[in-house]
Amino acid sequence: MNIQKLQHRFKERCGVVAIASKSKASNYIYYSLRALQHRGQEAAGISVFNKKIESHKGIGLVANIFDDEKLKSMKGRNGIGHTYYSIKLSKPENAQPTIIKTEAGEVALAHNGILINAEKLRKRLKRKGHEFELGCEEEVVGYLLIDHLNSSGDLINALKRTLNEIEGSYSFTMMFNNRIFGIRDPLGIKPLCLGKFADGYIIASESVALDVIGAKMIRDVAPGEVVEITSKDYKSHQLFNLKHRAHCFFEYTYFARGDSIIDERCVYEIRKRVGWRLAKEHPAHADIIIPVPDSGRAHAFGFSLGSGIPLAEGLMKNRYIARTFIMPSQKLREITVREKVNPIKCEVEDKRVVLVDDSIVRGTTMKRIVDMVREAGASEVHVRIGTPPLISPCYLGIDMTTRDQFIAHDRTVEEIREILNADSLGYISIEGLVEALQFSKDDLCLGCVTEKYPMDIPPEKHRFQHTLKEYRY
Ligand code: AMP
Repeated sequence: MNIQKLQHRFKERCGVVAIASKSKASNYIYYSLRALQHRGQEAAGISVFNKKIESHKGIGLVANIFDDEKLKSMKGRNGIGHTYYSIKLSKPENAQPTIIKTEAGEVALAHNGILINAEKLRKRLKRKGHEFELGCEEEVVGYLLIDHLNSSGDLINALKRTLNEIEGSYSFTMMFNNRIFGIRDPLGIKPLCLGKFADGYIIASESVALDVIGAKMIRDVAPGEVVEITSKDYKSHQLFNLKHRAHCFFEYTYFARGDSIIDERCVYEIRKRVGWRLAKEHPAHADIIIPVPDSGRAHAFGFSLGSGIPLAEGLMKNRYIARTFIMPSQKLREITVREKVNPIKCEVEDKRVVLVDDSIVRGTTMKRIVDMVREAGASEVHVRIGTPPLISPCYLGIDMTTRDQFIAHDRTVEEIREILNADSLGYISIEGLVEALQFSKDDLCLGCVTEKYPMDIPPEKHRFQHTLKEYRY
C-alpha cells in the first residue's frame, strides 16, 4: 500500500468499553468513558441493546454529549462505548460505535487501533457486492464477520476467520445483537482489561474505567483472546498464541493514565522507574527538578528519587486550554504552549533547574518552556526526556505520522540541545526504557524509536526481519 496514504490515515487513539449488566448499562458506560476521556476528546458514543441496537453519538467530550435524560432513555442492560481521537473527524456519523445492520444480525463495534490492510479488504468486499456507507475500518471488520458467519454459522469461528484476515493494532469491544465481546489483537499492541462489579462484567481499554464504577480488575484480556461477558459470567476464547507480543511502549510513557494497570504493570510506577534510570544515565548538577505538567510528573518524581535533587512545582498549568499538539499550524502551536504553562517565577529564579518531560516530538513545547524558564530567571536549564528520540512514524495508532515531524529524525542530541537552547539534554536510552518497562524487548513495539516494526509495513523494517513469516498468523 502507498505509504503516503497510510500516513494520512494513521491518526487515531481511542478508548473502548463494554458492559454486561443486570441493570441499565448506559450509566456505567458513561462513567467509564469519562475515565477514558484522555484517550480521545473528539467524539464519543454509546450503543445498547434494547430489542435492537440503539446508539447515541456526538462530537466533543463525553459529558457534553450525554445528559441524564439521554442516559435514562437508553434502556438496554448490555452495551458498548467509545471515545474517539482523530484530527480528521468532522461528522458525528464518524463517531463510534459503528453499527452494521444485516439479515444475519446487528453488529456494533468500538475500535482502538489501526488496521493496516483495511483498504485492500474493503476493495475485496466491494467486489463481493457490499456497499460501504461510512468508509471506516470498522465497517470492513463488520462485513467480514457477517460473511464468515453466513458461511460457518458459528460466531466464534467467524471471529477467528475475521481476525485472521485483518492486520494491525486493535482492541475492540463488540456487540452482536445482545452478545458482548472484548477482542485484543494477537500482539497485544493496545491495552484491554476485564473486570467484575456488583451488577455484572466490564471490559475496557484501561483499568481506570473499571475503578470508576467500583469494578475489580480480573485480568488483562490476553493478546489474541476474545472474551465474551454476560451479567453473570465471562468466557474466554484464546484464538491466537504468538511467540511474541508487541505492547506499545508509548502507552506506558505517555498515553495511558498514570493510575492504570496495563499488562500487570502500574503505569505510574513505570514512569517513575524511567525517571530514576534517566537520573542515572544523564545526571545533572542542579538545584531543583521541575516536571512539565502533567505528562512529565511521574518521570520527574523518579528523576528526583534517582538524583536526590528535590522536586519543585516550577510550572503552572492552565487546565482550561485545549491541547496544543493538534493545532493546525506551527505558529498557533507556539502561542498556545505559552498560554498553557507558565513558570512560577519565585520557584525558578536563580536556580539551576532540570526540566523533565515524557517525550519530545516536534520540540515546540520544550523550546518554549526552556525560553520561559530562562526568562523567569533560572541560571541553568537542563532537559531530560523519558522517551528515546522519536525518529519514525507510528503506523499502529499513535498520532505521529511523518518522519519530518520529529525534531530528532535527522539531528544529533547536541543539535537538538542547541535548538532547544538548553544547557544539557539527555534522553532515556532504549535499553534503559526496556529495563524500566520490565518486558523483553521482543515483546514491545518500539517502532517509533528503533524504526523496526512488529509487522510487515513496507518499506519499513520488521523487528524480526529474518523470520518475518513466523510472526504472521
Ligand atoms: P512537541 O511540542 O511536538 O515536541 O510535543 C511534545 C509534547 O506533546 C510532550 O509534552 C508530550 O507529552 C506530548 N505528546 C507527545 N506525543 C503526543 C501525541 N501523539 N499526541 C498528543 N500529545 C503528545
